[in-house]
Amino acid sequence: MHFDIVIVGGGAGGLELAARLGRKLGPRQGRERVLLVDRAVFHIWKPTLHEVAAGTLDAHQEGLSYPVLARRNHFSFALGELAGLDGERRLLTLGETRDEHGGVLVPTRTISFGRLVLAMGSGSNSFGTPGAEHAHVLEHASDAQRFHAKLLAAFARASFSAEKTLSIAIVGGGATGVELSAELIEAHNELLESLGSEQRFRLDIALVEAADRILAGLPEQISAQARLALERKNVRVLTATRVTEVRRDRLLTTAGEIPADIIVWAAGIKAADANREFGLETNRINQFVVNDRLETSVPNVYALGDCAACRWQGDKLVPARAQAAHQQAGYLAGVLLAALQERRIDAPFVYRDFGSLVSLGENKGIGNLMGGLSGRNFFVEGLIAKWMYMSLHLNHHRAILGTGKTAVLALARLLQQRVSGRLKLH
Ligand SMILES: Cc1cc2nc3c(=O)[nH]c(=O)nc-3n(C[C@H](O)[C@H](O)[C@H](O)COP(=O)(O)OP(=O)(O)OC[C@H]3O[C@@H](n4cnc5c(N)ncnc54)[C@H](O)[C@@H]3O)c2cc1C
Repeated sequence: MHFDIVIVGGGAGGLELAARLGRKLGPRQGRERVLLVDRAVFHIWKPTLHEVAAGTLDAHQEGLSYPVLARRNHFSFALGELAGLDGERRLLTLGETRDEHGGVLVPTRTISFGRLVLAMGSGSNSFGTPGAEHAHVLEHASDAQRFHAKLLAAFARASFSAEKTLSIAIVGGGATGVELSAELIEAHNELLESLGSEQRFRLDIALVEAADRILAGLPEQISAQARLALERKNVRVLTATRVTEVRRDRLLTTAGEIPADIIVWAAGIKAADANREFGLETNRINQFVVNDRLETSVPNVYALGDCAACRWQGDKLVPARAQAAHQQAGYLAGVLLAALQERRIDAPFVYRDFGSLVSLGENKGIGNLMGGLSGRNFFVEGLIAKWMYMSLHLNHHRAILGTGKTAVLALARLLQQRVSGRLKLH
């Protein structure tokens, strides 16, 4: 099997790239020349995983099947996990895909490529903390669904317990930890509305951050406002507190023990250890080192998004954000289309930081926007910030579904929520 362009990883960046290329090449050429590989059968935009975990978003409604996206956007799709790469011979190997009983669904395959783009994302970073395996992570849709199932069981247990309390400890006060805390509080509030007074229980959330403020990568004003908003919702925010060990039922920290029924690890990022096996230069956290054209150390192999380490503003790296993956997908689409026509684009990739937005629940957000020409930093909060945050999600859908279908989908989801409620309790 040969494709001119193979993209491994159909996430925020890889899927947008495949869709752009396929649509540009059209139904006949796109399917013949562009292949997207993912180890999952459906796509879900990763920044919504905290909502799936809290039950305020249904993964089955939100998820979009890759084969359908491939048909609509004129590219080919293969289910599989990257298992080997021979950069010199331009061959990649996809490992076997097995069903839940261990039976082989799809055998191992070798695919030859003209150009390869690695867009395999990243996971969280436990920094070698002992016992971190006891904590939930939010790396894939399946993690979020597993967490949700555990949360529902914990809700039931707490509402019939003598203590009438459920404790959740979240490690990491970055966007994931902050957004998850706010979403869990809203899910709990919504649940309480449907419970009698006998069954009501308290939700105690501890958000633990090693740095001296949450959202440490964002301006101080945003950290302070986000902390205030969370504390108003009764989230215990512990900053300058390092987790030294995770146990099944508690965190050991530099500020003492934090008992918890559920623990979530949402700190740091690290790409897959397997990335070291592909013969490409990688950094300390297993990201593929790329130059300002997103080329890895092997010719004709590119990397984008969270799995790529691309220099920015001197010694910093382009941040691991959906916004960066989106911009890199746009850049590589131009480079790869030009290459198919035997042209070359010499302009380097330049990351533009448009600011950051963090969701603090259904009707509240917070963030900063960078003024394009003035370079000034604008603070936004409340409903406006939340709408802007939601527009990022819609933009992603627009890139893979087109404007009309995105509008229909958004309306359908709104109506569904009106009928079934926001919280998914099954
Ligand atoms: C809860 C949460 C909230 C977030 N909120 C925000 C936010 O508000 N704003 C923001 O900008 N960013 C946010 N992020 C970060 C953002 O999700 C990532 O930066 C972005 O998704 C990276 O895109 P990507 O294309 O590099 O990888 P991903 O979107 O992670 O996609 C990687 C894809 O590769 C596939 N894959 C992985 N390994 C293999 C393999 N070996 N073989 C085949 N396929 C493979 C995966 O199945 C997946 O589909 C959030 C992240 C989380 C977890």
